[in-house]
Amino acid sequence: MTRNFTYQGSSARIIFGNGASMQTAEHVEALNCRRALVLSTPRQAKDAEALAERLGALCVGTFSGATMHTPVEVTERAVAEAAKFRADCVVSLGGGSTTGLGKAIAYRTDIAQVVIPTTYAGSEVTPILGQTEGGAKTTLRSPKVLPELVIYDPELTLGLPVGISVTSGLNAIAHAAEGLYAEDRNPITSMMATEGMRTLKEALPVIVVSRRDADARAKALYGAWLCGTVLGQVAMALHHKICHTLGGSFDTPHAETHAIMLPHTIGFNAAAVPDLLRPVADIFGGSPGQAFYDFAKTIGAPQALKDFGLKESDLDRAAEIATKSPYPNPRPFDRASIRSLLQSAWQGDRPPH
Ligand code: NAD
Repeated sequence: MTRNFTYQGSSARIIFGNGASMQTAEHVEALNCRRALVLSTPRQAKDAEALAERLGALCVGTFSGATMHTPVEVTERAVAEAAKFRADCVVSLGGGSTTGLGKAIAYRTDIAQVVIPTTYAGSEVTPILGQTEGGAKTTLRSPKVLPELVIYDPELTLGLPVGISVTSGLNAIAHAAEGLYAEDRNPITSMMATEGMRTLKEALPVIVVSRRDADARAKALYGAWLCGTVLGQVAMALHHKICHTLGGSFDTPHAETHAIMLPHTIGFNAAAVPDLLRPVADIFGGSPGQAFYDFAKTIGAPQALKDFGLKESDLDRAAEIATKSPYPNPRPFDRASIRSLLQSAWQGDRPPH
């Protein structure tokens, strides 16, 4: 029987196509903006400069200091630059870190955002902003944070290293998998989640052997958009909560943490909602947790938290933080069950479900 549901589409405009970023100037003008500040990480500074050049008189400057987890001190420097240049929009070129900085600026100044994503993180289509200050990570949702325009240009992802492609792709799949059992899911988000996982399942193994395969890159970016949209529209649960805890309190890297935790958290929840996770079993084959573990192994993803600076002695505190405040999850859990799940992920074990 069809469940009752509420559906709210996103107001973000999406442009998808090879070479689409070449028209960024027209899109900036169409937003009635004339003074763009281009954002990137230090690693993508050259690409940001090239984009700034293409924008010509529409660009007032670049800021290439974006970094993981959106530290407030970096945002404050970028906001000062935006004010100095009297920027009326940001153009964020890069992965979730750069998108996060653009969102943080927009949250404080309400200027428009154009995002040109170059990873599969999905942040560009969510109204969610995570920020860190004094070692603590907080998350907020606000319509101010949702970018006005997203330009997906698969050509820009051809150079994304295989390792980041794999972990970032699994990060996207995690949004979809948790979307399948979200309390506020609806038929559209479930459809997008299923299609997003299917395309990434097809694309990632091709990218691993042929990094610049244009078809696979386009498929993966399309899948990332679908999965990110799911993240933006429904509430996440145990998986995202644990990854947030590990990244925010123990500084584990974002995409790798998602990639490692995915088989364990989804395997844990599969015991409670096997029917809702049926698309995972159908697409990846086998029980959801084990299917994700085997797929991740095939594409060379990292599988153990111990390889990312987390100490075994940190696991008690991680379990405590992740279970401190209650939130909806399809399977009830307590500190002991999460501690044991973290132990398996720390060791890199194949989950039991
Ligand atoms: P990232 O943005 O930190 O990118 C990783 C590295 O890859 C960076 O050095 C970046 O410059 C480089 N890179 C990106 N694209 C490249 C390309 N095409 N070629 C070469 N190098 C490239 O990593 P990420 O995983 O995309 O994003 C992680 C961040 O995003 C975290 O801070 C996370 O919290 C946030 N995030 C937020 C949301 C949300 O909805 N708020 C969703 C997902 C992720």
